[in-house]
Amino acid sequence: MSSHFIVECLDCHHKAPYFASAPNCPNCGGSWREARYDYDNLAHSLPLLLPGRPFDLWRYRELLPIRSINPDLSMGEGGTPLFRAVNLGMMLGCPNIYIKDERQSPTNSFKDRQAAVMVAALKESGVTELVVASTGNVAISYSAYAARAGIKCWAFLTSVVPAEKMREVAIYGTQVIKVTGSYDQTKQVAATFAKQRGIVQDTGARSVPAIEGMKTIAFEIAEQLTSFTGPPDRNPDTGTSRLWRAPDWYIQSVSGGMGPIGVVKGFAELAQMGLIDRVPKIAAIQAEGCAPMVHAWKLNQETATPVRSPSTMIATLATGDPGRTYTLLRSKMLENSGGICESVTDEEAFRAMHYLAKMEGLSVEPAAAVAFAGVVKLIRAGVIKQNETIVINCTGHTMPIEKFILGDGWSRNLDMPKEMQDSPEEGLLAALSRVAVDRYPSIAIVDDNPDVRRLIRRILQSQGEFILHEATNGREAIDLARKEHPNLIILDLMMPELDGFSVLEALEADPDTADIPVIVVTAKELTSAEKERLRGHVQSLMQKGDFMSDDLADEVRSLLG
Ligand SMILES: *Cc1c(COP(=O)(O)O)cnc(C)c1O
Ligand SMILES: [Zn+2]
Repeated sequence: MSSHFIVECLDCHHKAPYFASAPNCPNCGGSWREARYDYDNLAHSLPLLLPGRPFDLWRYRELLPIRSINPDLSMGEGGTPLFRAVNLGMMLGCPNIYIKDERQSPTNSFKDRQAAVMVAALKESGVTELVVASTGNVAISYSAYAARAGIKCWAFLTSVVPAEKMREVAIYGTQVIKVTGSYDQTKQVAATFAKQRGIVQDTGARSVPAIEGMKTIAFEIAEQLTSFTGPPDRNPDTGTSRLWRAPDWYIQSVSGGMGPIGVVKGFAELAQMGLIDRVPKIAAIQAEGCAPMVHAWKLNQETATPVRSPSTMIATLATGDPGRTYTLLRSKMLENSGGICESVTDEEAFRAMHYLAKMEGLSVEPAAAVAFAGVVKLIRAGVIKQNETIVINCTGHTMPIEKFILGDGWSRNLDMPKEMQDSPEEGLLAALSRVAVDRYPSIAIVDDNPDVRRLIRRILQSQGEFILHEATNGREAIDLARKEHPNLIILDLMMPELDGFSVLEALEADPDTADIPVIVVTAKELTSAEKERLRGHVQSLMQKGDFMSDDLADEVRSLLG
């Protein structure tokens, strides 16, 4: 039987047709195989086939290992939005940060790509039962798609998976088996169970359709980024022009490494077909308490030493033994793209959750926040350059289980007084007046750029209650200071006409305003002469691209006393 794809064994290079019911190499029995397509032909035909197709992952069906797609299984997987992270970009001085919002997948994580394609392949092969081992999200995705396909699902979960996620798995009719032990032990138990019963198992990066599902992230990014930026310039040396633009970096939080393996393969296929101008560098970000890939990468080792007892609260990322997936990812990165493996602490991830929600309006799960914390770290370290284009995979939505990240005091209690019963309206007003008794400190934000004023306003509002004033130039700033006498001024240096230096001088010359503390925020590196001019006149100096919300807020708090 002929089809549009074939799988090649990574050990003996034997090529054979693929059936999800019999995943191993018929020649050597190896379980590591990769799908290959007719790239020469697709280089010409793919761009002609795409227009008019719905924006979901099945639009790339000629590059998926499914013989005929089954619309009855689809829930609109893939086709998630790509958008610019304007505020985060401003905070980091990096204007071209894009977010691939995989939270908007049917079960709210990017595992849906893997599950949708894998379950379609299983269905096509007549499989009726499936075993998965999971840190949570894989089991949720597989359970949902298995339910649609009428496939019975067994999910082996470590006992650290939050109970709410386990219930989410169970509601789809999946049989949940809770294993007290590490994720790696859980995988072993699941494998033994599957073998004993002769049930097909999802084998992570060895499941060909799963990797192929993940690679569609790369295809979508190339198409979407190009719609923002236009196609890449013609190469002046070769005269060739490419259809799509790829970013400089693809960044993802990583546990087992399925995502980046699929995504590098996707970009490498696009490059092979001559459709993109480059294969992006990969930044794989792990949680510090479980970062076997990062340790191995930094030591330049081909194999990762397993972390036997992961110490991170982020259960989703607790793969201690990535096995051959790491070796494969490393060789793909070295061969195609380059990049880096880096880790962040749980705290850094929780901080990232807060600023993503407060700056970008995105509520993400801690595992997804790890990627964003990684971006901050890599930009600050100069590994990612501020002029580079980066795409961050926002891998999953927060769940109501993440109770501990807000701490206390995130809401105010409003107890209805007794007199409510007699005169409800009066009672309500009395109660409300008690909520708003304190007088809040006032802050003047002075900047000619409305985006910067808006950003600073957002940062301050996310950190406490302030009365905020804005001035758009130096003249307005001086008038505002005299009239309102704010508790603090946040001042831009480079403004047309009356610049920040002149504002400082005018404020100091007036005894009424001389005592107001000033934080100077500047976009450019100051010369030593300019720094000298500021010395003794400002309380704090901050570089625009480089202040994070917490730094500015800490400074504001300390100056307000
Ligand atoms: C699975 C998962 C990851 C890690 O993905 P891998 O590519 O398998 O390492 C990151 N974030 C979320 C939300 C996940 O569900
Ligand atoms: Zn083989």
